Amino acid sequence: MAATEKVVKTLRKQRSDAADLQGKCFGRLMVSRLYARGRRTFWLCSCSCGNKNFKTQTNNLVSGKTKSCGCLRQEKPKDKPNRLLPYEERKRPNSRGTKNKEYLVFLKKQKKVCAICRKPETTKHSTGKIRSLALDHDPKTGKNRGLLCRRCNTGLGLFFDNKKSLSRAIKYLGG
Ligand SMILES: [Zn+2]
Ligand SMILES: [Zn+2]
Repeated sequence: MAATEKVVKTLRKQRSDAADLQGKCFGRLMVSRLYARGRRTFWLCSCSCGNKNFKTQTNNLVSGKTKSCGCLRQEKPKDKPNRLLPYEERKRPNSRGTKNKEYLVFLKKQKKVCAICRKPETTKHSTGKIRSLALDHDPKTGKNRGLLCRRCNTGLGLFFDNKKSLSRAIKYLGG
C-alpha cells in the first residue's frame, strides 16, 4: 500500500505544480496545459515561432533551461559546421540564412523541391518540424549552387563533391 500512497502523493504534487505554470511564459514558450504520460507530467507549450505542440517538463521551464521549442538554438549557431565535409571545407556561408534573398530565388526557381531528387524535404527536426531545404554551395568557389534536401546534400557530402567519383558511381550503377 505504501507504494500506492507514494504515487498518489506524487500525482497530487504534480497537480499543484500544474496550477502554477499554466498560462505562464518562459522565453518564447507559453504554457497551454498539463500533459500527462504515465507517471511523468509534461507541459504542452506553444512557442512564438508557431510550434504549438512542444512538450517539456516542469524543471526545464522553471530552471530556465528551456526557452523555446528548439527554434532558438537552431537560430543561434550561424555557421554550424557540416561534419560530413573535410575540415577545410566546413565553413558554409549563409547556410542557415533561410530569409536570404538568394535562398528565396532558388526556392521559386526549384518550385520548393530538391534540385537533385525533385522532391520536397521530408526529414524533421527533433521538434517534429520539417526541415527546410539546405542552401548548397560549391566548397571551392563559395558560390551557392541551389537547394538540396538533406538526403541529397548528405549524399554529395559523402562523395566530397568529387565529380569524378560521382560519375564513376553512376557508371558503376549502370547509368
Ligand atoms: Zn519555436
Ligand atoms: Zn533531394
